[in-house]
Amino acid sequence: MTQTDATTEKSRPMTAPLEGIPLPDVDALPDYERGFWEGTAARELRIQRCSDCRVFRHPPVPMCPRCHSLGYQWAPTTGLGRVYSFLVAWTPVHRALREKEQTPYNICLVELEDQPQLRVISNVLHVPPEDIRVDMPVQVTFMPAADDPEVVLPMFVPRAR
Ligand SMILES: [Zn+2]
Repeated sequence: MTQTDATTEKSRPMTAPLEGIPLPDVDALPDYERGFWEGTAARELRIQRCSDCRVFRHPPVPMCPRCHSLGYQWAPTTGLGRVYSFLVAWTPVHRALREKEQTPYNICLVELEDQPQLRVISNVLHVPPEDIRVDMPVQVTFMPAADDPEVVLPMFVPRAR
């Protein structure tokens, strides 16, 4: 485990998805959830979008909370966003995080540019945890999970402002 040894030394950035933690069984998911993962497998960040009022919603749900329509599409997004909020975990709770020495890791809430308040939970890669900031511009990238390469995870990396 690499942690800060001095005030000038920064911690190890995340460079890949966390290993050993639960992944979705994509084939067993209902249609209203599966489209998200089919999108990531195609290297697109597809978000559920109401067919009637056209509002994106995430996490996916069967009925539009705005207009109560049951119709939806899986619409590609730009994959561009900003860090809305984040935390850095230094003390792992899950056994796999301890055993594989995967700390520190970050959990980021990214607000997509496609619609205000449209947010996804992910990780920001290639940034030391001390340098992650609210409002940092990021863009999506896709990485197969180490434990199941069929599951492709949407991750975020910094981008120029
Ligand atoms: Zn709607």
